[in-house]
Amino acid sequence: MANRAYNFNAGPAALPLEVLEKAQKQFVEFENSGMSLMEMSHRGAIYEKVHYDTEKLLRELLSIPEGYKVLFVQGGASTQFAMVPLNLLRPETTAAYVATGSWATKAIQEAKLFGDTTIAASSEADAYNRIPSISELNIPENAAYVHLTSNETIEGTQWAEYPDTGSIPLVGDLSSDILCQPVDVSKFGVIYAGAQKNLGPSGVTLVIIREDLIAKPSLTVPTMLRYDTHAKVDSLYNTPPTFGIYMVGEVLKWLKEQGGAAGMEKRNREKAALLYDLIDGSGGFYRGFADKGSRSLMNATFRLATEELEKQFVKESEAQGFVGLKGHRSVGGLRASIYNAVPLDSIRALTDFMRDFQSRNG
Ligand SMILES: *Cc1c(COP(=O)(O)O)cnc(C)c1O
Repeated sequence: MANRAYNFNAGPAALPLEVLEKAQKQFVEFENSGMSLMEMSHRGAIYEKVHYDTEKLLRELLSIPEGYKVLFVQGGASTQFAMVPLNLLRPETTAAYVATGSWATKAIQEAKLFGDTTIAASSEADAYNRIPSISELNIPENAAYVHLTSNETIEGTQWAEYPDTGSIPLVGDLSSDILCQPVDVSKFGVIYAGAQKNLGPSGVTLVIIREDLIAKPSLTVPTMLRYDTHAKVDSLYNTPPTFGIYMVGEVLKWLKEQGGAAGMEKRNREKAALLYDLIDGSGGFYRGFADKGSRSLMNATFRLATEELEKQFVKESEAQGFVGLKGHRSVGGLRASIYNAVPLDSIRALTDFMRDFQSRNG
């Protein structure tokens, strides 16, 4: 297919071309049904198969142990910032958060609306250029849960290993690195992720929750914001985002063909190494933002000597078919988001461009 951009968008982000082409073929008529999947009932057999197959494949690819529910909800990861405290925080408890960057901060702000919060550790003093080490975590005994953001999409940092929080449930926002590598789900009480970075289109949010945490929350919590509402009926309480869930299913099939989470990790490490090696070998022309030990496999953030040069970099890259390299407006600089679906060829093209740009401006 002609004219595919080198897509480094942070989210919504690149999807596998094979998946887009298959979806295009199935778009108008789905499996000889006489209609698009988008036109049929979510209570019908055809959609139900898509729904349950997607859940099953997700359980397989993430090796989700028994005792966990998989939910497909709406409202993005941002709604989970509220649902987690609404469902898990009790009056006599506190919600412990690890402040690692922009997304963790948003999660904390939201939790403050509902009860007491504690900062278990923070890298704010270092402009969030690193993930605090596990030994820095200070978790109060009365914590209802410990929340972490596995990958800070904006700063470009990622947890290298997760803490063992014992009997206190660990809650993870894995929006921007889910399935980029295998993950031990049993370490978590709750995992949530908006789909639009690594799983599919926007509009679907994945929640994986340990069954004992699906307790009845306070009666004032709206029906749609209660985990038990969705868990009781396999995310079919109301109309789910049917097309989005179908797309997630297709992305998962693609991912399985690529060797699953382990295959993804191998590819992602290769991709990230290409980019970071170039940055580190540029003699200071490109300056990585994140501490080396906290670097993200998914979002590589870097700077140039001046903002003017960064602007020129963005402009020239766009003229050559690269999209999405401007850093988030809140932190500036440059960022290449290299999620699962971004092919190695795009990274090669980018590193060629970066070498050329340096030779002309270094
Ligand atoms: C993108 C992102 C979010 C926000 O997701 P929405 O679906 O837009 O609400 C939250 N957390 C992280 C880590 C993200 O990357």
